[in-house]
Amino acid sequence: MPVVIAVPREQNPGEQRVATVPEVVQKLTKSGYEVRIEHDAGTGAFYPDDLYIAAGAKIASGPADLLDGARIVLRVQPPTVADIDQLAEGTIVIGFMNATSNLETVARMRDRKVTAFALELVPRITRAQSMDALSSQATAGGYMAAILGAGNCPKFLPMLTTAAGTIRPATVLILGAGVAGLMAIATAKRLGALVEAYDVRRAAGEQVRSLGAKFLELEINAEGQGGYARELTPEEKVKEQQMVSAAVARADIVITTAAIPGRKAPVLITRETVAMMRPGAVIIDMAAESGGNCELTQAGKAIQAHGVLIIGPQNLPARVPFHSSQMYAKNLQSFLALLFDKEGAIINEFTDEILTASLLVHAGEVRHKPTRDLMNGGEL
Ligand code: NAD
Repeated sequence: MPVVIAVPREQNPGEQRVATVPEVVQKLTKSGYEVRIEHDAGTGAFYPDDLYIAAGAKIASGPADLLDGARIVLRVQPPTVADIDQLAEGTIVIGFMNATSNLETVARMRDRKVTAFALELVPRITRAQSMDALSSQATAGGYMAAILGAGNCPKFLPMLTTAAGTIRPATVLILGAGVAGLMAIATAKRLGALVEAYDVRRAAGEQVRSLGAKFLELEINAEGQGGYARELTPEEKVKEQQMVSAAVARADIVITTAAIPGRKAPVLITRETVAMMRPGAVIIDMAAESGGNCELTQAGKAIQAHGVLIIGPQNLPARVPFHSSQMYAKNLQSFLALLFDKEGAIINEFTDEILTASLLVHAGEVRHKPTRDLMNGGEL
């Protein structure tokens, strides 16, 4: 009997992505696995059922049909309690689990003795790069944030020299130059904008500059003993805040990406700073779902304040579902390879460091310590 890998249709409102794509299905079926796709699972990402069938998958009409005998379930969003109740003991579920904010579902997976791997817990080591779904989806999100900013900006982004006069390029500021921020920088540069960026990590400066953008830095020497950066003094921190506020005030588009995993996002743009901005300026707050980098952001809404449009998008990767699903599916394909032995059977011991780190629930136990501590009444 081949191992059955099941892919449900995502149920969250606005979720257009799917956990696998026909190209990956073809590889899995060639390796001898049975891949079952719930009817219409890929439609939102523009992968119709017939492409999956051509790749060797079977289409299931509904959840019962899909899960019957399935050993592995691939998902994008965390399962709900109702989803978990349909899983047989020992089923392996892989996807984003957002464990610390989904304690009820984690408890249900524990009680139902389901095995869950959380992709957001995959360690960011070189060997795991091909499985880094946080990065692939942040890439899609950063791209989309820049496009959303450009689409809502009343100005052209590039410099134009035309018979009707010369147009100055727009200024785009990116706060937080991690994976999403770097992609937003690259996209805004390609659109011809003047791009500035800031990150608390000085090391990000080199990456920012390599993309042709300006990295904002304080004109102070923050080098401490042994060449390591020292912590800024309170006065220097005020100067840093002033530098960021001045950059926000001169920007036409501000894209904020500063997030702290599992915690509320830091406020980088206060309401006073918004009042200093140009009319027509746009803020795309990628941290909207974790509280927002702008004090005025409302998650899932676009609001106007002082003539500034503040957009708090939710699930930006779902707005480029074709490619974000393709990248996610490849991440899962790499992750799956860790779970099988040479004969193609599912391994019994999850000793690989990538598996150990991402194993959230197994055999009736919550294996991820921070989540377990939180469930026992502790704090993050
Ligand atoms: P993230 O989404 O957690 O945060 C986004 C960025 O916001 C980060 O660069 C962070 O430094 C910045 N930030 C946080 N607070 C800030 C503040 N107050 N002001 C300004 N900026 C602030 O980060 P991420 O995109 O997931 O990446 C985090 C790090 O991991 C980066 O160094 C990245 O290069 C690294 N990374 C490594 C690998 C790997 O080695 N395989 C893969 C992906 C990312």
